[in-house]
Amino acid sequence: MEEIKVTNIVKFHILFLLYQRPVHGYELMTEIEKLVGSKPSASQIYPFLSVLKKNNLIAIKEEAERDKKVYELTEKGRRFVEKKLEMFGGIISATIEKDLTTCAHCGCKVYSGGYEETIDGEKITFCCTHCAGTYKRG
Ligand SMILES: [Zn+2]
Repeated sequence: MEEIKVTNIVKFHILFLLYQRPVHGYELMTEIEKLVGSKPSASQIYPFLSVLKKNNLIAIKEEAERDKKVYELTEKGRRFVEKKLEMFGGIISATIEKDLTTCAHCGCKVYSGGYEETIDGEKITFCCTHCAGTYKRG
């Protein structure tokens, strides 16, 4: 399989939508418009879909009477998207982790809030006052 690069948010969003359910081409357009705030051009979407198709990651169903195409992930496609999701998830949590501080007492990650106390002239972060109390006694 040739390397499929998911180089922008539009491509990533297409994969994410397909992962949730089979979608019409026009639905992809509308959903992406909602995401990026402007109408995507067909060239942002259809070449990517045809690469996916060429690699058997999606199947295209024609709804004859309305002449609309429905795009659907194949089994192989689902596995592909799961891998991408994992990768992006890893990047996102790494970004969040960087900004986290750790409770000086219990070691848990403090996402927001937290509790700061100055002990012996040093500013120390805890997850809560209980941890601060235990730390000081310890
Ligand atoms: Zn703690």
